[in-house]
Amino acid sequence: METFDSKQILTLERTQEADQAAWPQSVEAPSAQYAAKWIDTHTHHYDLPTREERQACWQRAVDAGVTRMIQGGVDRQSIAPIARFCAEHPGSVSATIGLHPTEVFDNYEVELELMESILNCGLASVWPAVTDAPGGKAPDVRYVGIGEVGLDFYHDRRYEKEQVAAFRRQIEWAREYSLPLVLHIRSAFEEACKILKEEQDGCLRGVFHCFGGSVEQARRAIDLGFHLGIGGVLTFKNAHLAETVAEVDLQHIVLETDAPYLAPHPYRGQPNESRYIPLIGQKLADIKGCSVAHVAAVTTRNAMKLFGL
Ligand SMILES: [Zn+2]
Repeated sequence: METFDSKQILTLERTQEADQAAWPQSVEAPSAQYAAKWIDTHTHHYDLPTREERQACWQRAVDAGVTRMIQGGVDRQSIAPIARFCAEHPGSVSATIGLHPTEVFDNYEVELELMESILNCGLASVWPAVTDAPGGKAPDVRYVGIGEVGLDFYHDRRYEKEQVAAFRRQIEWAREYSLPLVLHIRSAFEEACKILKEEQDGCLRGVFHCFGGSVEQARRAIDLGFHLGIGGVLTFKNAHLAETVAEVDLQHIVLETDAPYLAPHPYRGQPNESRYIPLIGQKLADIKGCSVAHVAAVTTRNAMKLFGL
């Protein structure tokens, strides 16, 4: 199966300036907006370089009714920007932590040790290791998931062994901390399912992020106890994903943008944002022949339950 996470071609530059930016005051969402009803279960808005851009992007999402945006961690460098974005918007921005399969290299064990100590002891204990601004105070982050983790054999399989080892270790974290897995699986569906089947003891849960597979693959993912993360690809012309999703009960689906990648129609090719989640929800409602409100209610409930929000 191919998933559509194009992280490897679109990894944003993280500037030193961004990492060293001053920690902002908390910004609360307008309380009226909390009545709205969408959750973006997978975004990377933390990569926006300035506080003003992050604030504007967050505000547009809140105005569109997106009340929660879960930021997908990918490596050591993503930890501080994610923590900063969570601190800017407590209650509406959440974090996951993990080593993305395309970030698994020879030194992967060192990277995993760092993340494990954050899970064990809190971010403050290792703060200087994840930021170029020593002396700054580490914000308190409650991680809601382990991710992005998984297997990616799309470009090469040089680190296949290491990817598998890193995946298994991070699956252990999910078990140990009772957190859902945010799975990035690309050109490795069979291999990933084999591992998940072996590891599944009834406690593992999570989401196949950016799911783009067949009906049969969807069934297998669901049988393994996982949700499907459905994003902007659903709105693309000729995407076979609509046929798959038509066969899947809404209770197994959560919505995501994977912003800034994979903007839905009619914004395809432009930077994606959490504010476009309702467009994905609308397409899902069209496929299912139900109301948008129903899609919002069910997918939001699924996400809240899955991520313990
Ligand atoms: Zn992602």
